[in-house]
Amino acid sequence: MAPRARASDTGVQTPHAAMDPDTPDFQPEPFRGSNHAPLDPETEADIIVIGAGPAGLAVAACLVQRGHCPLVLEQARELVPSWRHHYERLHLHTVKTHSALPGMAFPASAPRYVPRQGVVDYLDAYARRFGIEPELGVQVLAIEPRQRGHGAPWQVALSDGRQISANHVVVATGANRRPRAPQLPGQDAFEGRILHSRSYRNAQPFAGQRVLVVGIGNTGAEIALDLTEHGVRTALSVRSPVNIVRRDVLGRPTQLSSLMLARLPTALGDALAALFRDLTVGDLSRYGLHTAQVSPLRQLREEGRTPMIDVGTIARIRNGEIQVYPGIQSLSAGSVRFTDGSEHPFDTVLLATGYDAALDELFPYTRLALDTRGMPGEVSPQGALQGLHFVGFDVREPGGLLRSIAGQAQDVAERISAQPAQGGHRAQHPHP
Ligand SMILES: Cc1cc2nc3c(=O)[nH]c(=O)nc-3n(C[C@H](O)[C@H](O)[C@H](O)COP(=O)(O)OP(=O)(O)OC[C@H]3O[C@@H](n4cnc5c(N)ncnc54)[C@H](O)[C@@H]3O)c2cc1C
Repeated sequence: MAPRARASDTGVQTPHAAMDPDTPDFQPEPFRGSNHAPLDPETEADIIVIGAGPAGLAVAACLVQRGHCPLVLEQARELVPSWRHHYERLHLHTVKTHSALPGMAFPASAPRYVPRQGVVDYLDAYARRFGIEPELGVQVLAIEPRQRGHGAPWQVALSDGRQISANHVVVATGANRRPRAPQLPGQDAFEGRILHSRSYRNAQPFAGQRVLVVGIGNTGAEIALDLTEHGVRTALSVRSPVNIVRRDVLGRPTQLSSLMLARLPTALGDALAALFRDLTVGDLSRYGLHTAQVSPLRQLREEGRTPMIDVGTIARIRNGEIQVYPGIQSLSAGSVRFTDGSEHPFDTVLLATGYDAALDELFPYTRLALDTRGMPGEVSPQGALQGLHFVGFDVREPGGLLRSIAGQAQDVAERISAQPAQGGHRAQHPHP
């Protein structure tokens, strides 16, 4: 990093302008956002936030509130592209009071479970409120460590050729960065369409077709429901036992019940969560759905797998509108053979098989400590990784990822503010 310019060199009047920084008793103040000379914006930043989804916006807002001016980089040409492009039927599965980002609630007029467009409107308003203006259309290609003792510890390589060094890099690129699309035996012979759920918007292009949705996570279950509601003949392929819970029981959101159960001693919380599931959803094995041995809470904690939160799919399975088949054995020209030996014709195979965070792609020279789901174990690791922060990857936390993002964003902003920086931007945005 270039040496910090003196206030008199830059013409910027700071609280230290009258002091001589070269006198022995001069002690720079910890970074507070306005008392340092500006960095060269082409090559330096104090804090870079990668991603302008909910996590990136939440961290940026918490930093702005503490007087920082982070550089926010987003590869898409719009804010929160994930929510803008999710399927149209989507509503939050988590209640609005536990899905809001720090510093701004959802509007009072919003329903308990906010629809997709309401989430987009809220996040747009959130960015405006905190004056967050990401650089759009800029992809981070790599995050590389710099030689210790030579200024800022991290360097970020961008798709437009720039290399920007930074004291802090907040990785908010999402747990769902890369669609996971397994190779299916015989898929080259299949004459229909195979697509990932990321490309699904609504049922309209599938009118008159027979669609097989692979996977009964929250996305697969809701897309199958959407297709059926629009008259599309739909089946699900489910290869493993699942945990299914109702979104509300007797008017009470299951999200709130699971937060309460998670505070109990582990064995008791697990037992009650399993009991709750069995009493409210029951045995679905005669429909081809087998219940997981472990409780929903334990599966979330140990495997990072969220239970399927039912918003109507199970009723359609019970009344025979959606068939459930086991795992796929192979595809042929116009049909799919399942592991039970049955074979059925389909026009489209829709893979609701999840996503990967694909963090290793961003760190070609750094070994990250990732768990079995490929998520970082720590939000702000120390040692050789000091200065990196990972927000939005705690998929094991009960209560939903947005709730966890809100907490992590505040923690990270607090931690960054507590550390003196080697330079910084004057906050350009007025505090809200
Ligand atoms: C269908 C669906 C429904 C969900 N519903 C809920 C819910 O009801 N409640 C809940 O709590 N959670 C829910 N989640 C989980 C989670 O809250 C969301 O995925 C949320 O969008 C996560 O925010 P994020 O900012 O971490 O990730 P994202 O929204 O994915 O944002 C990451 C951003 O980083 C950008 N980016 C990635 N790589 C780069 C790069 N190299 N350079 C520059 N930019 C990059 C992306 O373009 C993106 O804009 C849901 C997830 C899905 C998929």
